[in-house]
Amino acid sequence: MRVLGVEGTAWCASAAVHDTATDETFIESDAYEPESGGIHPREAAEHMGDAIPRVIETALDHADGEIDAVAFSQGPGLGPCLRVAGTAARALAGTLDVPLVGVNHMVAHLEIGRHEADFDSPVCLNASGANAHLLGFHDGRYRVLGETMDTGVGNAIDKFTRHLGWSHPGGPKVEEAAKDGEYVDLPYVVKGMDFSFSGLMSAAKDAVDEGAAVEDVCFSLQEHIFAMLTEVSERALSLTGSDELVLGGGVGQNDRLREMLAEMCEQRGAEFYAPEPRFLRDNAGMIAVLGAEMAAAGDTIEIEDSAIDPDFRPDEVPVTWRENESV
Ligand code: ATP
Repeated sequence: MRVLGVEGTAWCASAAVHDTATDETFIESDAYEPESGGIHPREAAEHMGDAIPRVIETALDHADGEIDAVAFSQGPGLGPCLRVAGTAARALAGTLDVPLVGVNHMVAHLEIGRHEADFDSPVCLNASGANAHLLGFHDGRYRVLGETMDTGVGNAIDKFTRHLGWSHPGGPKVEEAAKDGEYVDLPYVVKGMDFSFSGLMSAAKDAVDEGAAVEDVCFSLQEHIFAMLTEVSERALSLTGSDELVLGGGVGQNDRLREMLAEMCEQRGAEFYAPEPRFLRDNAGMIAVLGAEMAAAGDTIEIEDSAIDPDFRPDEVPVTWRENESV
């Protein structure tokens, strides 16, 4: 089966073709880069309108043959962006006369790692821009075991770098600056299985304003944020009894986060898998891969049921393609 995936939840206009026979995935992406500040929803939607037709055309040219289904990110994400990508996917499914698959973007972030690692019952850490949560599979759904009580992890880092006047996205720049940094004390906020970034971000901004070296604050920010995510990931493994951890989301491209998670897993005899970077940041490959699994399970939707959902939570999704599995 060959599935065309369309992704357009926020900054990344992307189309991909996944071929289940070869397990190969071709991805074409076009990123929105704000001239200043963070992601502006109207500008991001304009970028989608401009780039989505282009990336789809490239993906279809590459496929050079039959497409059996069209999958798209139905949510969560920015409404104006989701609407553009959703409209393109609906039109394409209608024109090609193939089934339409509505994919939850957060479930796709974790399923791509699970697909590649071929794990049985992993706990999944989604460390993306607008989200941060631990998920475990139980009784037909991904359950939220723990999550951020305020902003997503990448958005928190980006807010700090906006304060410094650095361009978006901030995550890679903090990673680079942190290489020359030393430890300064910042708040560490974990409450049971949940965690919070807003106080930590305010403290980091204050530290810079009060004269601390930017590299030191970047280093400490990473150490605090990633230690919080690692602590909760370990607790999730312990509580579920799982010995497999999968990473998802754009912040997962950070070497230090992957190093901490890998070390924690090694110490407790668990396996850790982080997908390659092209599958961690937003991309249509993960939408096409999960779309193919959903289509094979008959989990397709009619056009009238395909409205986008900016607040689509991963635990709302009946996991039709993994029946009879549980953590
Ligand atoms: P979501 O998937 O929740 O909708 P999103 O659309 O913002 O979020 P992602 O592609 O998952 O997208 O993640 C983007 C985020 O990843 C940005 O906040 C960016 O700063 C962060 N990021 C990218 N590279 C790194 C890195 N090396 N270290 C830390 N953060 C990073």
